[in-house]
Amino acid sequence: DPDAVHRVEDLLDEPEIRHQLDELSGPRVPLGDRMTAQLIAERAAREPDEVAVSHRDRSWTHGELDARSAEVAAALLERGQAVGEIVAVVADRGLGWAAAVLGVLRAGGAYLPVDPGATAGRIASVLDRAGCRVVLTGPGVEPGAWAAGRAVLPIDGLLGTGAHADPVPVSPDALAYVYFTSGSTGTPKGVMCEHGGLLNHLLAKIADMELVAGEVVAQTAAQSFDISLWQLLAPLLCGGSSRIVDTEVLLDADALVEELTTGRVRVAQLVPSYFEVLLARLESGPGGLGAVRALSVTGEVLRPDLARRWFACCPGTTLVNAYGATELSDDTTHAVLRHADEQVTLGRPVRNVDVSILDDTKSLLPLGAPGEIAFSGVCVGRGYLDDEEQTARAFIPDPHRPDRRLYRTGDIGRWLPGGRLEFLGRRDEQIRVRGVRVEIGEIEHRLAGIDGVTSGAVVVDSGAGRGPILVAFFTGSAALDGGAVRARLSEQLPDQLVPTYVHRLDRLPLTANGKIDKVVLATVAATLG
Ligand code: ADP
Repeated sequence: DPDAVHRVEDLLDEPEIRHQLDELSGPRVPLGDRMTAQLIAERAAREPDEVAVSHRDRSWTHGELDARSAEVAAALLERGQAVGEIVAVVADRGLGWAAAVLGVLRAGGAYLPVDPGATAGRIASVLDRAGCRVVLTGPGVEPGAWAAGRAVLPIDGLLGTGAHADPVPVSPDALAYVYFTSGSTGTPKGVMCEHGGLLNHLLAKIADMELVAGEVVAQTAAQSFDISLWQLLAPLLCGGSSRIVDTEVLLDADALVEELTTGRVRVAQLVPSYFEVLLARLESGPGGLGAVRALSVTGEVLRPDLARRWFACCPGTTLVNAYGATELSDDTTHAVLRHADEQVTLGRPVRNVDVSILDDTKSLLPLGAPGEIAFSGVCVGRGYLDDEEQTARAFIPDPHRPDRRLYRTGDIGRWLPGGRLEFLGRRDEQIRVRGVRVEIGEIEHRLAGIDGVTSGAVVVDSGAGRGPILVAFFTGSAALDGGAVRARLSEQLPDQLVPTYVHRLDRLPLTANGKIDKVVLATVAATLG
């Protein structure tokens, strides 16, 4: 009953508002006025001979990476690089890519990753929208039609020149990077994030994952995924090193275990789909994960059964459920789990981050009431490049904290006793089926709980000539067919929430970032009728 929300909202008094605003925030830690590239350069001077970044059989020390990034920065500054100007890096991950990312930040620029595998048209459109004058390219990247009117600098040509530039000081509100994410409207959205948000997130990862000097962090994420940034930069900030893991390795559980083990990786972060493949491998084969002491899962719901299986395989390690969005400079809450019997939640807000649970009128809800999860604080990005309308919809003035921007995630959640957040699904997956308000997340939750189901997803098929219907897909035991799963769901859910069709698949389609691809599933649902 949507009206019930408003009735409890009226009960919220000033002391409770203050309690929520003041006590449920992340810890307050001053950020300082030196930003990421400057701090990394200072840290490199402390242990110049330790490994900073490695890829396959090559590695650079902190001193070497510092020198290489200084060469990239010098080339950019020579071409009139201004603070906050967007520089595209069209390169696969590798040592040169690492020097380019750090070099752009060092020159005061804003980093824009571009996948070299994208079509020339897509690259041109991204470069045009970002207004890029200068493009850094990786080995094997041939300039296409997109190069016209821009300076194209092969990264390898900049390395080893001996040129030098000190890090350019930037303020926390200078633009640090832009990631293009898929937009529900079909046009990718360019998410703009600032230096304060970037540095705050890196420091939150260091603090909450307890990263220390000398430790190896796996750099597993594709360069088009924002989590690739902390996997590269956080270890550099604290004297550790980043181990770049190729995507082919990530897709092959045996190769991944081998890489994590021989690379003496201590900390890694995966999306749940890769995590699940890794778990299956750990359960079926001998040997553990070498030196891995903490694993973080992010990007999608962490199912409690996966957490239990992790601790059965790797007792004594830490599992961190990390939750956030590109618009929030990556993760904004961490749940640090150490035992199989701990409840899986989104955890607590990270440092300098404030959470609000809002109703439809954007007012704060009482503790425990479900509503839209919104964040304010240094983590909140600047908005979408050249898209005032979408920016105004998602980034609003914080009604309770003057002079702050607030980002509405579109996720539904609530506060649990003890100040942890619970994830309840996506707001935009809230639909009506035959008049009943349906949260897709609720059905997926039940689906995942059925014995024999390994993973599942539910999509809406809005076929012509009838109302929307729900279609479920699952992977799991061959003994289980769609009919049986549907029967189990109908024992637990109101009629309107029971999917009309339930299909078993050998595997669920994944996006480039490894999340379940619901767009593909919706197409499959439409085809299957
Ligand atoms: P990021 O790049 O930080 O992984 P994206 O911008 O790709 O995030 O996607 C953000 C959305 O992904 C969130 O709004 C939420 O719906 C979902 N999400 C991210 N992390 C989690 C998590 N730990 N649990 C549940 N959902 C998550």
